Amino acid sequence: MRLLLVEDDAMIGEAIRAGLRRDGFTVDWVHDGQTAEQVLKTDTFDLLLLDLGLPGKAGLAVLSDLRSRGDAVPVIILTARDAVSDRVQGLDAGADDYLVKPFDLNELAARIRALLRRKSGQPTPAIEHLGVILNPAAHTVARGGQDIALSPKEFALLQLLMERPGTIHSRARIEQRLYGWGEEIESNAVEVHVHGLRRKLGTDFILTVRGVGYRVRPS
Ligand code: CA
Repeated sequence: MRLLLVEDDAMIGEAIRAGLRRDGFTVDWVHDGQTAEQVLKTDTFDLLLLDLGLPGKAGLAVLSDLRSRGDAVPVIILTARDAVSDRVQGLDAGADDYLVKPFDLNELAARIRALLRRKSGQPTPAIEHLGVILNPAAHTVARGGQDIALSPKEFALLQLLMERPGTIHSRARIEQRLYGWGEEIESNAVEVHVHGLRRKLGTDFILTVRGVGYRVRPS
């Protein structure tokens, strides 16, 4: 899952990014409202973490403009202000959730997972498809009671494919979801991860759709 973090405080931003990366998220970070607005127009993210007090353009204005463009990306507001009116304004401007600083990184990660689950219509914390059970919170994949060890990118790819089992994902789209800015991508990276998953899950769990991309085998 690829997140955009908008936070002008260097220490807080670094802590959030490091913590969420440890939790397996791909995190891109910008420090002001104007840059956030630019990248939101040109890049795709699964979720936005938005500080309210930002230089250049306030978080609330970024949020209002985002929603008026019709962008439905899930948004969690991060704010130091604990005035009720800020939270109310944020939610009314289109935020899905908020956290008041200082907050626990585990709580932030759990709220992100809960929000992504709601957005994808996934009612349970674990995703199951053809006997393979993937748990985003516990970071585990199992089949037939056996845990299967995956690399972080293999895990992210499998989660992407299992969340929408009917969807064919192009290589470009997969790369965009798995890699943040500045992360080096080998030209055959997606093929390598698919190969790794097939070695661990069997060759028929992930199908290649020639010239289009990849999907999981339909149930
Ligand atoms: Ca701030």
